[in-house]
Amino acid sequence: MRPPGDDWRERLRVREERSLLRFLRRVDPEGDGRVLVEGRSCLNLSSNDYLGLAADPRLGEAAAVAARRHGASVASSRLVAGTTSEHEALEVEFAAWVGAEAALCFSSGMLANLGTIPVLAGEGDLLVSDGMNHASLIDGIRLSKARRALYPHADADAAAAACRGAAGGRAWIVTESVYSMDGDLAPLGRLSALRREASAGLYVDEAHALGVIGPDGAGGLCACGVRGGADAILGTFGKALGAFGACVAGPKSLRELLVNEARTFVYSTALPPPAVAAARAGLAIARDDAGRRRAALDAAARIRAGLRDAGYEVPDGAGAIVDVRFGGADVALDRAVRLREEGMYVVAIRPPTVPEGTSRLRIGARATWTGAQLTAILDAFRRVRRAVRPDARA
Ligand SMILES: *Cc1c(COP(=O)(O)O)cnc(C)c1O
Repeated sequence: MRPPGDDWRERLRVREERSLLRFLRRVDPEGDGRVLVEGRSCLNLSSNDYLGLAADPRLGEAAAVAARRHGASVASSRLVAGTTSEHEALEVEFAAWVGAEAALCFSSGMLANLGTIPVLAGEGDLLVSDGMNHASLIDGIRLSKARRALYPHADADAAAAACRGAAGGRAWIVTESVYSMDGDLAPLGRLSALRREASAGLYVDEAHALGVIGPDGAGGLCACGVRGGADAILGTFGKALGAFGACVAGPKSLRELLVNEARTFVYSTALPPPAVAAARAGLAIARDDAGRRRAALDAAARIRAGLRDAGYEVPDGAGAIVDVRFGGADVALDRAVRLREEGMYVVAIRPPTVPEGTSRLRIGARATWTGAQLTAILDAFRRVRRAVRPDARA
């Protein structure tokens, strides 16, 4: 048998051949939304820092105060010696924000989905999953002993039909609210109604909606007029809130059950207090600063309109994500390289993150971009378009 290293190199070679090789690139923040990439100063179009809070001094200061008081880590799981007043306060604030009775912190959104879904649905139940769901939802579903059914993206009628296959157990609909790659909003009003019509449970991952859409920035369910209209909600703090970590919100009984049964909660070190304090500071700003949310949505709308005008294919979006479609992974990679040469850092998103033939550049619009920065972004895309299609208008 050949050594493992030969197998590994062969697998990497196959990925590279298909333009699917992933690699890490050093991206050092320079301030003002800029990053240093390969020796070039670029505007960062690829982060999920929609409100521009990740580098906000208020979050940094909150983290510093918590670090001085509680240290860098609690060095134990929440159930052992890891529950501080910071964790409890964040959970209360998060639950109140999204209109739930209670909430429980997890160390990341990935861990929250992996831990929560198998608690919600078990043997005999049916997990009804949107076809475009995030990998963390897919993997949480895989860890559950429930049966699975996929429905076409955002198709509430198909979800309703799938729920009828639940046989004896309960059907659980699993969906994102604002979709992480396509940037559109799931039909949460209709899906929430299925809780009554089909006795289905509903789990909504609000990772890309919180802090961006809905009254008080409280997310997609609120934006659809069904605040509290899910059985459980996931919120993450590493995106619009500019911090790190996650919370699952729902009834008190769910919180207590997760404390007992969610393995990624029970068997993992608690979220560090500095991260918790930063999340609290980010949450307060995301909730209270309506101008910032408006600015993020305006920036996204302006970029969508400008790119369409320049001849790019840009689907509609509900939040701050702008999805620029190219189809082939090789084309998306080429455009990313050209944009970097123009001082714009944007990463090509390729299969298996998105379906075959839908490779794209995904822009996370940011509230803090100035008018001049927005103009520079559109100018860069226009120049790239002219370079690859000299006959194109614009
Ligand atoms: C980013 C993301 C997660 C994971 O959250 P982390 O805190 O980054 O682990 C979960 N769900 C969706 C839809 C996401 O986009």
